[in-house]
Amino acid sequence: MVNLEHLIQEYNLVEVRGDDFIIDMMYARSNNIVSTPVYKNIGFGDKAFLNAKAYAALKKLEPELKKLNMKLRICDAFRPLEAHREFLRLAPVKGLFKAVPEESLHCHGLAVDCCLTDENGKNLSYPTEIDAYTPEFAKELQNKNYDNYFRHLSKAGYNFENCSEEQKQNRQFLRQFMQNAGFSPIPNEWWHFNFI
Ligand SMILES: [Zn+2]
Repeated sequence: MVNLEHLIQEYNLVEVRGDDFIIDMMYARSNNIVSTPVYKNIGFGDKAFLNAKAYAALKKLEPELKKLNMKLRICDAFRPLEAHREFLRLAPVKGLFKAVPEESLHCHGLAVDCCLTDENGKNLSYPTEIDAYTPEFAKELQNKNYDNYFRHLSKAGYNFENCSEEQKQNRQFLRQFMQNAGFSPIPNEWWHFNFI
């Protein structure tokens, strides 16, 4: 079990709060790609934390979100090392989670998984769900059908073109939106942004 107070001190974490953010930590629920609420299992709970520097950057987005009449859904932020190790155990497949937990920027509170929603909290349309989650593909992962899973995961990349114009535009808009606040995208997951 993790000690939240220790983690907050060790990584200089701040809880993400605000009307413009929807906190929806996917690894605190069971409908995620490892099919179990790891964050709850290890006593971390369902709150989003970021390193204070990354949080300050995220807060810059609030006036912009209000202007756009949108919200930012946050599905992962700081991730305890214990959780990352559990992901590696539950999904021992190369390239899905960083093999060395300490190298994951999530584990330092310097990465966020997110998407934009309308004012009612309904996600805009993107080429996949965050984590490319579907119940079907979570099952593929559980059954160790890794090839099928990775075929599906390829839809998560920025260069995936076999989706609608609207989805491409939303993906691009999110990328620019996060970059404006100082976050950096990565090529293979449209929802993941680093603060480095
Ligand atoms: Zn991520």
